[in-house]
Amino acid sequence: FTGKTGTELLTEKLKKFKVEEYQSVPIVVEEDVSAYDAICTMFLEDVGTLFVTNEFSHLVGVVSRKDLLRASIGNQDLSSVPVHIIMTRMPNITICEPDDLLLDAAQKLIEKQIDGLPVVHVQDDTFEVIGRLTKTNITKALVELGRDQHM
Ligand code: ADP
Repeated sequence: FTGKTGTELLTEKLKKFKVEEYQSVPIVVEEDVSAYDAICTMFLEDVGTLFVTNEFSHLVGVVSRKDLLRASIGNQDLSSVPVHIIMTRMPNITICEPDDLLLDAAQKLIEKQIDGLPVVHVQDDTFEVIGRLTKTNITKALVELGRDQHM
């Protein structure tokens, strides 16, 4: 018996969780697709956040539900508005890497008040999108951790 309390054991386990173990598949669109098509993609893929890339597949922005709602409120024709006009753009994108602690990624979500992070490979000064980490992924980890206590 190690003499550790339940809380200490929980914390120890939580600090072993890595982003790559819980990330989902990223849904990516190119910067020239229309806001209309982005909305269709969001419904078809059942996600709340799309990652936007340029012709070299480098991350250039993020489009959320609210970004698309905001664009819809103005009377523009959404099929003629490219997503790069309405997205949040680099360098203001909060990212995480596969090897990061899940706990650190969760803290970024809270601090920035956002629903998800792109999981990226950093290449020089560009980002290649390889995953998506959302509040749902964090919730799954939490449930797993809680259930584990009975074993
Ligand atoms: P929603 O807009 O659907 O509530 P979010 O809370 O995630 O979704 O997004 C809020 C704002 O933050 C949006 O303008 C969105 O573009 C931006 N955003 C979302 N994810 C990120 C991120 N990882 N880095 C920077 N900005 C982001």
